[in-house]
Amino acid sequence: MSGILYLVATPIGNLEDITFRAIKILKEVDLIAAEDTRHTLKLLNHYEITKPLISYHRHNEDIKVEGLIEKLKEGKNIALVSDAGTPVISDPGEVIVKVAIEENIQVVPIPGACALINALITSGLDTKEFSFYGFISINKKLRKEKLEEIKKENRTIILYEAPHKILSTLNDLESILESRKVIVARELTKIHEEFIRGTVTEILEKYKEPKGEHIIIIEGNPIKQDTDEKQKINEMTVEEHYKYYEKQGFSKNEIIKKIAKDKGVTKNEIYQIFIK
Ligand code: SAM
Repeated sequence: MSGILYLVATPIGNLEDITFRAIKILKEVDLIAAEDTRHTLKLLNHYEITKPLISYHRHNEDIKVEGLIEKLKEGKNIALVSDAGTPVISDPGEVIVKVAIEENIQVVPIPGACALINALITSGLDTKEFSFYGFISINKKLRKEKLEEIKKENRTIILYEAPHKILSTLNDLESILESRKVIVARELTKIHEEFIRGTVTEILEKYKEPKGEHIIIIEGNPIKQDTDEKQKINEMTVEEHYKYYEKQGFSKNEIIKKIAKDKGVTKNEIYQIFIK
């Protein structure tokens, strides 16, 4: 019988943020696949866990998967951990999880810390719906596209960012966010844990030399796209309204029907206006 692939969450700073179950699993598995074996060793030493460690990081993910899947098929249990928090979330693991599922290997999550969730719950912003963007690309075109998406996004937005890029990302956000609320959650669970709140401009004014790890949480755009569109249509004359749908390729009959619906009147009333 195949072994189990455990996805084990580890602390995001404070070493005490790990569950009893995570420690038990790390003690019981045959092998631990870690993003950075030296980093994970510190955690294992802290909890007096001695287990064979194998490196599994973004740059060797494809190569390592085959060997790890082989071991799982031989019946070995493997724990996958990343440097911090929940593996697979902006961290290596996606490949092995997909292959394990294809190979009918059981994949079990061992829950624990995840930076984005902890930043979100302390943000004071809407938590009912949110959109996680991870790290936004540094490629100019892709970055511009993402910023456009963020500008329109109605749900609370969560971004991860590397320490040396946080200021440039905040600067890019300044041009699209206007007065939206922003929270920079810094060094969560660590000694210098801090939440910087305000508009992006206010944050940039008080935050000149960022240090440590950061998450950016942004209030969703309060203006819904379709509301914008509706308002635009409401302000049009019937002629403008006609041209608006004509440009979209609708037939004369369809346009009359649509205008009548938008204005909440009968088709006949719209015909009468045109006849006049
Ligand atoms: N898998 C991790 C998780 O569950 O959150 C995230 C890994 S991702 C490579 C690292 C990014 O997460 C950092 O650049 C930062 O944006 C965020 N992060 C991780 N730990 C953090 C902390 N203690 N405080 C603030 N942000 C943190």
